[in-house]
Amino acid sequence: MRHSPPTVSITRRGLQRLENGHLWIYRSDLTQIDAQAGDVVHVLDSHGRLIGQALYSDRSQIALRLLTHTDERIDAEWWGARLQAASHVRQALAIDATAYRLVHAEGDLLPSLIVDRYDDVLVVQTLSQGTDRLLPVLRDRLVGLFAPAGILARNDPKVRLLEGLEQRVEAIYGTVPKRVTVRDGPITYEADVWRGQKTGLFLDQRENREAAAHYARGRLLDCFSYQGGFALRLSRHCETALALDISEDACAGIRDHAARNGVTNLEVRRANVFDALRELERADDRFDTIVLDPPAFAKRKTALPRALSGYKEINLRALRLLRPGGHLITCTCSAHVDEATFGEVVLGAAVDAGAQVVVVEKRMQARDHPVLLGVPETYYLKCLILRRAA
Ligand code: SAH
Repeated sequence: MRHSPPTVSITRRGLQRLENGHLWIYRSDLTQIDAQAGDVVHVLDSHGRLIGQALYSDRSQIALRLLTHTDERIDAEWWGARLQAASHVRQALAIDATAYRLVHAEGDLLPSLIVDRYDDVLVVQTLSQGTDRLLPVLRDRLVGLFAPAGILARNDPKVRLLEGLEQRVEAIYGTVPKRVTVRDGPITYEADVWRGQKTGLFLDQRENREAAAHYARGRLLDCFSYQGGFALRLSRHCETALALDISEDACAGIRDHAARNGVTNLEVRRANVFDALRELERADDRFDTIVLDPPAFAKRKTALPRALSGYKEINLRALRLLRPGGHLITCTCSAHVDEATFGEVVLGAAVDAGAQVVVVEKRMQARDHPVLLGVPETYYLKCLILRRAA
């Protein structure tokens, strides 16, 4: 039986990182380790002073994820209180949807933990050794606080491999149906929480779809449509709509959701957006509203140059297809592409397209995906609503 808590000591540079508001310490900033994989550890500076408590990983480059700056007792009750605080934040947002993010990891001071609510089902992701080991505790707290019908551990994200954790999807409480019916504003979805992308839907775009609806009109093009998120929401304001996705399953999903929501002016095409934009231009098809919501082109920093040229290409081609007076809603969900860089890429595209572009709104991920100011990695989704002036 060990009586003293596990400890990890860190360098001066590591300490500075925490003092600057970040929550992560990299492996290269550890000096002494007296802890096991997944422990909640006391973090010490070079003089042995307590800096705070963190989740320890013995595998990933992110070796420590700070939980608190104090020596408070971190037990089941503590986790319950953090979960409840996250829930209170959502209640105050008065979200007009039955699917939303309940816990956004670092953004809710619950590093490496994601919890999404899909009506009465909770979908959980434990993305580090620390939260993974705590899954039974977290499950019990979630049941106690929210009384869900079922909880799905959707633990198939690749980042778990960096932690030495396996990819596994299983119901860990109650029953989790194949599809969960949820409402997002005026649109109803059948969310595939077991196999769909992310945890089933792109909940982070809810507010951007709502904002885009204010400008949508005429002929709409929704690129990278997935289940039709933007197309379904905007098509009611438009005369005709065209949704593109490379995945056959996604296209079937869009058609199904269009029928379910009584959307009759939407055409769905399975296509690679890069090719389709070129073909639409050749066919002289033009649009009044265009949405670009691609997957993260830059999953790693080394992929950045290629990613930026990809973003530039689709923005350039979209602007060529956009009639003057029309709106482009353009997004990047790469954490590595910051707001300034994204703006530069889009400007480069506008210049090459010979388009004069006005910034109508600068937006980000929905507020149920909070950004922690000291952790830039939590600010991953950038969205510009632009008007082509000429
Ligand atoms: N706009 C959606 C989310 C988009 S997710 C929403 O609001 O919910 C990104 C989608 O892009 C995925 O469905 C994926 O299948 C699709 N995709 C990825 N690469 C593509 C490509 N080159 N051409 C067309 N679709 C692509």
